[in-house]
Amino acid sequence: MLEGRGVVQLSSNNYLDLANHPELKRAAAQALETYGCGAGASRLISGTMELYAVLEAHVAEFKGTEAALVFSSGYHANTGTIPALMGGEDTVFSDEWNHASIIDGCRLSSATVRVFRHGDMAHLEELLAAAAPSGQRLIVTDSVFSMDGDVAPLEEIVRLARRYGAWVMVDEAHATGVFGPRGAGIVEELDLQGEVEVQMGTLGKALGSFGAYVAGSRVLIQWLVNRARSFIYTTALPPPVLAASLAALRIIKTEPERRRRLWQNAAFLKRGLAGLGYRLGGTGSPILPVLIGDGAQTMALSAALLRRGVFAQGIRPPTVPEGTARLRITPMATHTEAELERALGAFAEAGKETGVL
Ligand SMILES: *Cc1c(COP(=O)(O)O)cnc(C)c1O
Repeated sequence: MLEGRGVVQLSSNNYLDLANHPELKRAAAQALETYGCGAGASRLISGTMELYAVLEAHVAEFKGTEAALVFSSGYHANTGTIPALMGGEDTVFSDEWNHASIIDGCRLSSATVRVFRHGDMAHLEELLAAAAPSGQRLIVTDSVFSMDGDVAPLEEIVRLARRYGAWVMVDEAHATGVFGPRGAGIVEELDLQGEVEVQMGTLGKALGSFGAYVAGSRVLIQWLVNRARSFIYTTALPPPVLAASLAALRIIKTEPERRRRLWQNAAFLKRGLAGLGYRLGGTGSPILPVLIGDGAQTMALSAALLRRGVFAQGIRPPTVPEGTARLRITPMATHTEAELERALGAFAEAGKETGVL
């Protein structure tokens, strides 16, 4: 519902439509009754309520790691983890299209930051070969790039990491719940659990709740508990949020058909939009960037779609590079074919009205 009117929502990261799932709501309501509205303090003072231990154990099991740590958000996880691991002697290698929270994590660390061209493994290797021999090395990348929907070449990144003595950190914000046989992400899909030292992901996108996690070795998690400032110096998450995340993890395991429907819907939309003559970027994930180029024309198309009952938000610089403004379309598992047909009809009309088609 948008201003009292039903619209087809194509701009949400609520991929599996779990944010409104009755089990998440029930779990959150129960936790509200049992534990109250707020944690009352940071994790290291008195905010670590028992739900945290349960959730962290479940996340570790889900990700196939020894341990996991829940952060208040993905932004907190990235801006806390990178500076906790990397100091003045060290070098971080970061994909140029990485999420802003990774960029800010790099800025907050005193490490040298080397940015490699998006997905360009030859460039990454060049930078690794040229790096100072002393100090630690960390390669950090999104697994699914949030504005383009393309997938990082993780196998090649891991291969280079082993050759040049680097650790790998992967941000699975858009892959958690979407990729992998159990929905654990692209690291799971490629069977790289043992090769990625730092697996980060969020609980606020496909999981429909809020918060984020870092999964890895017990030593890594202990280190973050003691060193990650965005973990230490902020109030713990409200108990209902933790309970909703736990319920979401359960549903991802027991309802794999949601994942399947999401992919089917993405394929349907992709075919339809390409058939109308729209230029799609990325692909390889359910994120479909409809490339327009000009910022004003992008927003005009977005407005023309909304008049026809379709919510597709425009994305402009500086979030994406200059000249690549776009609509970033993401279906949900619960969209019906009739809803997606209606959306495609609106795309046909709005594209002509705004001169995009
Ligand atoms: C959304 C996102 C984040 C931030 O997560 P929040 O929980 O919303 O703070 C981090 N990394 C990537 C790749 C994201 O898409």
